[in-house]
Amino acid sequence: MRNDSTATAPATASVAAPALIDIGINLAHDSYDADRDEVLARACNAGVIQMMVTGSTAASTAQSIALARAHPGRLFATAGVHPHYASELTGESLAELTALARQSEVVAVGECGLDYCRNFSPRAAQQQAFHRQLELALQIGKPVFLHQRDAHADFIAILREHAPRWQGVAHCFTGDAHELDCYLELGLAIGITGWICDERRGAHLAPLMPRVPAQRLLLETDGPYLLPRNLNPRPASRRNEPAYLPQVAAVVARARGESLESLARSSTAAARALFRLPTL
Ligand SMILES: [Zn+2]
Repeated sequence: MRNDSTATAPATASVAAPALIDIGINLAHDSYDADRDEVLARACNAGVIQMMVTGSTAASTAQSIALARAHPGRLFATAGVHPHYASELTGESLAELTALARQSEVVAVGECGLDYCRNFSPRAAQQQAFHRQLELALQIGKPVFLHQRDAHADFIAILREHAPRWQGVAHCFTGDAHELDCYLELGLAIGITGWICDERRGAHLAPLMPRVPAQRLLLETDGPYLLPRNLNPRPASRRNEPAYLPQVAAVVARARGESLESLARSSTAAARALFRLPTL
């Protein structure tokens, strides 16, 4: 969406907003081109103190690194090729991605993984790109930022081939109890988005939240996608942004029977530990 710059500013800014880290924001997306600085200012007011900008192609990875460079200590980048674009990861672009992934602003390799929901790249290409990025993560000693949709069995099989040599997060977890247990058994952290705020398709996630150890529970918006559906008042724009992360945190905290402050503390510490983020 490109016509969002005139949208009403999100209600944010409680004075005592607990410090949160958005581990997955597609801030290089063109829907933020018109008002990226305002988006960052609103995030800050909402207590979202650090963010990881998702790279999903070599080009968006380069943009994510540039954003991180412009906001040192506050924005960080991931370097990866999303399974939708797996066919693009040829030998030459792998060399380019490797060089990008080595930059100091890059805190994880990804997003990478498998997406059999739409199969924008053939499955064989997705699997090869996934293997290559897991190897890259191992080679440069950075964790992985993982995407999986409708591909659980192959995804787990490939991870098991490479385990236990890497660390990472299953970003935007939307699965069931079995998938969650598999991820936890593999040692992954779990990234929760506004999917959990969606009463139509995310209701199954709330009862799973108490099973995730606090030191492995991370929060993300995945903006501009996945606007939390229970925002009140409902924003005029459907574009999601980091200022809405407290809404996700509140729903997760309630599902776990803990305070927002306690969840903020543990998820912020967990993100810093996994991605080696500095304290501010
Ligand atoms: Zn994803």
